[in-house]
Amino acid sequence: MKINTNLLCTTNKRILSLITGIPGITIKKSIARRMFCWMLLIPWTSTAQDTIVVITPHPDDAEASCGGLIANSVAAGSTVIILTMTGGELGISGKSREEARVIRAEEAKNAASLLGAKVQFFGAVDASLAADSINTAKLGEILLQLHPGLVLAPWPMDVHADHQATGLLAWRVFQDKRCSFSLFFYETTNSPHTKTFAFTPTDYIDITGQMTIKRKATLLHTSQNPSEWYGMYETLATVRGYEADVPFAEAYIRAQNSSGMGGRSNIIKKVLSAGK
Ligand SMILES: [Zn+2]
Repeated sequence: MKINTNLLCTTNKRILSLITGIPGITIKKSIARRMFCWMLLIPWTSTAQDTIVVITPHPDDAEASCGGLIANSVAAGSTVIILTMTGGELGISGKSREEARVIRAEEAKNAASLLGAKVQFFGAVDASLAADSINTAKLGEILLQLHPGLVLAPWPMDVHADHQATGLLAWRVFQDKRCSFSLFFYETTNSPHTKTFAFTPTDYIDITGQMTIKRKATLLHTSQNPSEWYGMYETLATVRGYEADVPFAEAYIRAQNSSGMGGRSNIIKKVLSAGK
């Protein structure tokens, strides 16, 4: 996690001076002072994770579904890796699989770069991703190596088979006790009748300030004619923003493998109480 010392408020700077006994302390010069900074900055950077892995079935899903969160997270100091499961080889008519894979890999790198993220490729082929033991083990090894604090994956109840498989693979690795990441599912949409099914959000992310860069990043997948379908994602961001009382939002479902999907079992009550 990168520490932005500019975020340190005046009060905390005074506290820091009291602790260290050095008035007008220059924070960058001492490891000890950095440790104090770290402690004091936690409330300001508590949403940042060291590494976030966004698992995307095809090039373009990550930007369209999670572009706002990715941009927010990078700004907060996280390293974001977009793990692309398939090369989207079938996604460009008139091109061979290899030609399409190369074109889409380049688009994926450019789009991720605009958001400040990195790209990694899993190596599966478009429309052929299986939620089997081999891919579960392979994804598990990749995530153990990357050691993310957060992993995002598509909600398995999706109309596209690669999306279903990606979500299930992430869910299976999430059960692996060697892994310690938090898993969130994201939703996809496209032309009418291809929306994620039965998606009940547990978390909302305000992406109002990131709508422009999210759009630009998604539109960099030019081979997919995104201007024809990206409007669905803007409509979705408006709906999720309406639910969350902000202009635009992305919605997620937190997975919990010990107390029920999405943590809803943690908030169930016997009676209602006044106030928040
Ligand atoms: Zn897709």
